[in-house]
Amino acid sequence: MEQIIKSFLSEVESKNRNEPEFMQAVQEVAETVIPYIVKQDIYHGKNILLRMAEPERVLMFRVSWVDDQGEIRVNRGYRIEMNSAIGPYKGGLRFHPSVDLSVLKFLAFEQVFKNSLTTLPMGGGKGGSDFDPKGKSDAEVMRFCQSFMTELFRHIGPNKDIPAGDIGVGGREIGYMFGQYKRLKNEFTGVLTGKGISWGGSLIRPEATGYGNVYFAENMLQKNSQTLEGKSVVISGSGNVAQYAAEKCIQLGAKVVTLSDSSGYIYDAEGIDEEKLAFVMELKNNRRGRISEYVEAYPSAQFFAGKRPWETPCDIALPSATQNELDEKDAISLVKNGCMCVSEGANMPSTHKAIAIFHKHKILFAPGKASNAGGVAVSGLEMAQNSLRYNWTREEVDAKLKGIMHEIHNSCIQYGEESDGYINYVKGANIAGFVKVADAMLAQGVV
Ligand code: NDP
Repeated sequence: MEQIIKSFLSEVESKNRNEPEFMQAVQEVAETVIPYIVKQDIYHGKNILLRMAEPERVLMFRVSWVDDQGEIRVNRGYRIEMNSAIGPYKGGLRFHPSVDLSVLKFLAFEQVFKNSLTTLPMGGGKGGSDFDPKGKSDAEVMRFCQSFMTELFRHIGPNKDIPAGDIGVGGREIGYMFGQYKRLKNEFTGVLTGKGISWGGSLIRPEATGYGNVYFAENMLQKNSQTLEGKSVVISGSGNVAQYAAEKCIQLGAKVVTLSDSSGYIYDAEGIDEEKLAFVMELKNNRRGRISEYVEAYPSAQFFAGKRPWETPCDIALPSATQNELDEKDAISLVKNGCMCVSEGANMPSTHKAIAIFHKHKILFAPGKASNAGGVAVSGLEMAQNSLRYNWTREEVDAKLKGIMHEIHNSCIQYGEESDGYINYVKGANIAGFVKVADAMLAQGVV
């Protein structure tokens, strides 16, 4: 088996040199899915995983724009259309200086499995740019978004490819891109998700990834006769996903003690309550400030510059910032300090070696493609509402989100339960996500 996996990975690597994040994502899937494929006659010998590791289409384009000083700037735009076997391409746009082909291909590959798990008919894609919105004026962000969409618009559409937000792309950026799409196409369609409520957005979409992750963690805990109440929770990041994960944890009676950004983390031993969280939301979403400012407002908290929060004792950890933010050393520290459950809000925040530590110690561990699927699931619900020209209430969308997270949890159990009763959620999510896409690819022939 090891040899089959190795030769598959070396074939993929030969075509994707210098793409470490992409290879990391493919390896994680191959190690759990190939042993399943070789036992299933219908998939064996069809090179399905090899086809899934090859994007259907990669778009790469120049994005020129003019900054406030009149200087001409040049960034690179991307869209990876990874797999459309079960629906139109769907996945976010990331604006961050670290964006390159490897990062977006890993995200697009993960997205295919994630979207399949949601039970909704969505293929997988991802895109973005190495543009950094940090420190840019609103007018600069608008000019960049308009220039980006001036190329992207010809490749996307409500039945073709429907982008959404991700790191660096929130309501403001989606608004500017939607406006430009509408102007260029002269049509008002649900071509992007994460839209404002008054122009086609869905209630609960901003909350969905963070809430969904907490619902998933609740499912894992419930399976072990536990709840979130009274648990101490360590969260990384302080963006969209982290904020709403914190909000749901607080609502369910847990104590959130950390948040972070790329400059360090804050630790509040008394717990971040609703009022303090409202301060963080105002700070990050409107003032676009740094998390270190939290300790100026709440002096009993501490700020640890340049550090990540995993050294903090906790019951539950919700990594919600970025890829590879939790390594083997961090995993050992979490286990040593009594952490019993890690549920990923971000995409691939735990390294391969960190996951091995969690599995070795039988910690409840949920990979992002399962636990953070709530975001894209509600994006799918936003598409459905756009097609219906109708809006569901907050309660309706929240109930659907909860139901979807429960279904994803069940799928993970179906394919991930081991002989001793331990649920390997990585294996469960990978195989469950694979089966639906693979069946569709088989039915559609060699295309
Ligand atoms: P935001 O841009 O809203 O927030 C990102 C947060 O992560 C910020 O606090 C940011 O800090 C921090 N961060 C980003 N890059 C780094 C880095 N290299 N090192 C340390 N901290 C970093 O993004 P989201 O909250 O939307 O996304 C967070 C994660 O969740 C990503 O992995 C994303 O792919 C994933 N995700 C998001 C979904 C969504 O619906 N938004 C859906 C599913 C997954 P700083 O401000 O200093 O950069």
